[in-house]
Amino acid sequence: MMIFLGPPGAGKGTQAARVAERLGLTKISTGDILRAHVREGTELGKKVAPIMERGDLVPDDLILAIIKEELKKLPVPRVIFDGFPRTRPQAEALDRLLGDLGLRLDAVVLLEVPTDELVQRLMKRAQEEGRVDDNEETIRRRLAVYREETEPLIDYYARKGVLFTVQGVGPVDQITECVLKVIGAA
Ligand code: AMP
Repeated sequence: MMIFLGPPGAGKGTQAARVAERLGLTKISTGDILRAHVREGTELGKKVAPIMERGDLVPDDLILAIIKEELKKLPVPRVIFDGFPRTRPQAEALDRLLGDLGLRLDAVVLLEVPTDELVQRLMKRAQEEGRVDDNEETIRRRLAVYREETEPLIDYYARKGVLFTVQGVGPVDQITECVLKVIGAA
């Protein structure tokens, strides 16, 4: 089991997909799942749409329900989490869940990217993909929420000895190779 950690725009989704493919793991992206609910107009989607549009975090209990359901779908969960956990309670709940399932957290990959570059990337994505939460005000909010709620997880996982840091700047291929190397898979 692996986690990709890092600020919005660091390339977690891209790298998680590439590493999942290389290692035969399933990628679980809470952001993608939530966006699908919003698109399909489900009850959950209606609830989370305004939260996501503001750039705030969806409540932990809703996120954990999604994660449990996704894990249940897999006969043998071998997973890369992208964009989860994002808060300390989510991280603690994941520890309990993995413990109950007899699974081990092998690696947490932190993608580091300078803030200026993050803002530039997110603004570019706003133009290309038209994500509702990719506008300047929301981008600033998401970065602030990351610093406040998610960044403390770096220390949480460093203490557990499972944190690997990779610079998320440069050619996409090269970053993937770096990730595989630091986790000992290449
Ligand atoms: P992402 O695509 O990972 O950047 O997620 C987009 C948005 O979905 C975030 O800004 C949050 O509003 C919500 N979201 C995704 N994952 C989580 C999570 N683990 N906890 C809380 N909110 C989340």
